[in-house]
Amino acid sequence: MICEFCGGKTTKKKVKRQHWLKGKLYIVGNVEAEVCKECGERYFHATTLDAIDRYLLTEHAVKDYLNVEVVSLG
Ligand SMILES: [Zn+2]
Repeated sequence: MICEFCGGKTTKKKVKRQHWLKGKLYIVGNVEAEVCKECGERYFHATTLDAIDRYLLTEHAVKDYLNVEVVSLG
């Protein structure tokens, strides 16, 4: 597809996505996306996002946990 921001070409790639669901943040690996070669913008299909939701809402393996700093500029 063509990037909405810069008009560059995108290619299909497996990426890591930050995904919010029910107030919780998940880092999901191995997610298929269209990634712009020029600006790096990533596009996810609605079906892919639905699949992530479904996966997280059912029993799933947790590979790791992260501590996240929440800060504010000024
Ligand atoms: Zn772009």
